[in-house]
Amino acid sequence: MRNVLIIGSGCAGNTAAVYAARANLRPLVVAGKHAGGQLSMTTLVENFPGFPEGINGPELVENIKKQAQNFGAEYIHGDVIDTDLLNHPFRINVEGEWIETRTLIIASGASARWLGLDSEQKLIGHGVSSCATCDGFFYRGKKIKVVGGGDSAMEEANFLTRFGSEVALVHRRDQFRASKIMLDRVKHNPKIKMLTSTVVEEVLDPSQHTVTGVRLRNLTTGAAWEQEVDGFFVAIGHIPNTAVFKGQIDTDPDGYILSKGGARTNIPGVFHAGDVQDRLYRQAITAAGAGCMAAMEAERYLEAEGH
Ligand code: NAP
Repeated sequence: MRNVLIIGSGCAGNTAAVYAARANLRPLVVAGKHAGGQLSMTTLVENFPGFPEGINGPELVENIKKQAQNFGAEYIHGDVIDTDLLNHPFRINVEGEWIETRTLIIASGASARWLGLDSEQKLIGHGVSSCATCDGFFYRGKKIKVVGGGDSAMEEANFLTRFGSEVALVHRRDQFRASKIMLDRVKHNPKIKMLTSTVVEEVLDPSQHTVTGVRLRNLTTGAAWEQEVDGFFVAIGHIPNTAVFKGQIDTDPDGYILSKGGARTNIPGVFHAGDVQDRLYRQAITAAGAGCMAAMEAERYLEAEGH
């Protein structure tokens, strides 16, 4: 029986682990198959306080994990495939093994959103990617397209200019969600071309089992055309990882956990932290703060229950 089980090992989960471990609660962190969360797929993080020169995302998240382990947090790998949160203690199924816990912190984050084209899905891993940091290296001297108009797309486009012979950013509107500083960087990068009011209709060519190009359409003129592409990066946001809590934890229509104040969910003893609940800020520092809040609430809950 665990006092605290934490699902997720990104900034939120690891920070919750630091706090819970320091409170002598010996938390168990289920790290997930994509351990480290979004930070493990990013490059330089320039806005996490305390690092004037910036710090690489994977290093930052690993440091927080080590900090948690130093205080006694335990980590296991694998994904949560089922949960029973309607009975006490809560039960969490990690790859077939049920684990019991008095409190649960859900810090399972959010996964990349895809365009949903059949051709895109068929070519994931064969030229289609959602992670420039993971796959950019494969496109040295090649033609790259990035889809999206938010900070993620800007970050990916900029990063990919290290590798690609040319990088084009395709966005469906002519207004951007991205912050001004990130958008300006892209606009001033001579290696990046912008294709606005343009959508990707098809990724070519599934019959060749590799990306050879894209079919684009300009939404203003209606014109459609094809362009040669080697690497196709989709950076259009994320979907919260809450499927295993369906019917138990209250979520909004998009699946983000609904907060009941602080880090509380609709189930007493189950707390949320990070991107799985936060669709607004979604920063490393806010996720870390949310992890701290969740652990403190778990500690208070356990104390009130006499543990
Ligand atoms: P986002 O801000 O939600 O932007 C998603 C973008 O994808 C939007 O431009 C959207 O277009 C477009 N999009 C969505 N669905 C689409 C579809 N089906 N087809 C074509 N385009 C589609 O997501 P994000 O860029 O991942 O950023 C998420 C959060 O993380 C933000 O708060 C951001 O500031 C933060 N972030 C920060 C950094 C950093 O500071 N270093 C880096 C990355 C992310 P519309 O605009 O037309 O809706």
